[in-house]
Amino acid sequence: MSENFDVIVIGSGPGGYVAAIRAAQLGMKVACVEKRATLGGTCLNIGCIPSKALLVSSENYSDALHHLGDHGVIVGEVKLDLARMQARKAEVVGANTKGVEFLFKKNKITWLKGTGTITAPGQVAVDGTEYTTKNIIIATGSESMPLAGVEVDEKTIVSSTGALELDKVPDHLVVIGGGVIGLELGSVWGRLGAKVTVIEYLDRIVPGTDNEVAKAFERVLTKQGFKFKLGSKVTGATKTADGVVLTVEPAKGGDAETVTADVVLLAIGRRAYTEGLGLAAVGVETDARGRVVTNGHFGTNVRGIYAIGDVIAGPMLAHKAEDEGVALAEMLAGQAGHVNYGVIPGVIYTWPEVASVGKTEEELKAEGIAYNVGKFPFLANGRARAMGMTDGFVKILADKRTDLLLGAHILGPDAGTLIAEIATAMEFGASAEDVARICHAHPTLSESVKEAALAVDGRALHI
Ligand SMILES: Cc1cc2nc3c(=O)[nH]c(=O)nc-3n(C[C@H](O)[C@H](O)[C@H](O)COP(=O)(O)OP(=O)(O)OC[C@H]3O[C@@H](n4cnc5c(N)ncnc54)[C@H](O)[C@@H]3O)c2cc1C
Repeated sequence: MSENFDVIVIGSGPGGYVAAIRAAQLGMKVACVEKRATLGGTCLNIGCIPSKALLVSSENYSDALHHLGDHGVIVGEVKLDLARMQARKAEVVGANTKGVEFLFKKNKITWLKGTGTITAPGQVAVDGTEYTTKNIIIATGSESMPLAGVEVDEKTIVSSTGALELDKVPDHLVVIGGGVIGLELGSVWGRLGAKVTVIEYLDRIVPGTDNEVAKAFERVLTKQGFKFKLGSKVTGATKTADGVVLTVEPAKGGDAETVTADVVLLAIGRRAYTEGLGLAAVGVETDARGRVVTNGHFGTNVRGIYAIGDVIAGPMLAHKAEDEGVALAEMLAGQAGHVNYGVIPGVIYTWPEVASVGKTEEELKAEGIAYNVGKFPFLANGRARAMGMTDGFVKILADKRTDLLLGAHILGPDAGTLIAEIATAMEFGASAEDVARICHAHPTLSESVKEAALAVDGRALHI
């Protein structure tokens, strides 16, 4: 029997479940379709949360092995219990996905279990049962991008999903792709003892990140043991009894060579996921990259069908998906929902972390915007010295004429937390001087943000 809803959200990732909660808060009758056995999408099940659990655990292991002695903390023989580490990760994921289930109950959201197909505007079939609704929100997310000649089996050639599940530390992990996911998961297995080689097509890592930060980041990771093979493309992978043999060629052309690995992580990006949705049949437009095309208000070309999150254009980030979910739910309720795409922070959760918001120096140059730069190294920050974590710096970019904050890029301890201050300041239209005149507690890492803001005007105090 069909049931009527105000909103049916397809997909329960951070875009979908947050849209569902906000719509329910605003008084709508909401259902969310999810085919996975647990709620929370890529982010909670096989993305942000499990990767961060393993990053924290591997960091603790690495600290015990290499750094605690510096603090005069002498531990006995340090051993790795990988099974326990993986079990803890599963517990963290379980607590989070159950948390979303609780929030659905609290907000009276119906979880329709199964695969959702849009059969007509206002109509969704879930494993054969039809439901009617005023609005449909597509929030089906993304999947790992395949590479011709490199077939993922999630055992020896893995995507990020398999890389989160390894039950043995590989001797040699080769990561194809020097982006965020490859470097985070490379860090996990490197800290646990793997030799890690990253093969990247471009002649730099983390494309899109401010060049100066990316170069410094590469140096720090190299110091930690990462090997980088930049300007190289993988053209094939052959499985052997011992692992995998990769064929690698210079990106610009030239002789091929082979690289052997115990495990290969394919991490060259993600692509929009719309399989089984029935978009073609209802005429929803997608672009050349398979993303659902939306207008400025998340509407597709078919009335009453909307899309948010990884499945549409923009950075594939959980908080971007969430903010779109909130904005769309508010618009459906007649409010003025809004996402400021100019101020979406991005964080790489390695150690040190990398965090950015706003424009990079390269973008400002390309757009012909005159700017001032203020920089401050963590080496000159008392708290960073006390922590023994002095790698990296804060870089702030401000308009040359008005001093308006245009962007900030941080490589350093807890960069992901520090960037929130600049994001807040940018949302309030602050200048670098505004940040410089805010009283920052001493001794904190955040004083480096203040000092970089002072440095925009050439008047940093502690360097
Ligand atoms: C290893 C890894 C680490 C990451 N780390 C971070 C991080 O630290 N920070 C960050 O911001 N982002 C991170 N991301 C990216 C983040 O996970 C995504 O940006 C985010 O999950 C996108 O949310 P979404 O709601 O658009 O879709 P998703 O989270 O992908 O959720 C989509 C859901 O829809 C379901 N679905 C699809 N089709 C159907 C259908 N027809 N019927 C029913 N259900 C369907 C899927 O099963 C899935 O559960 C990471 C990603 C990965 C892979």
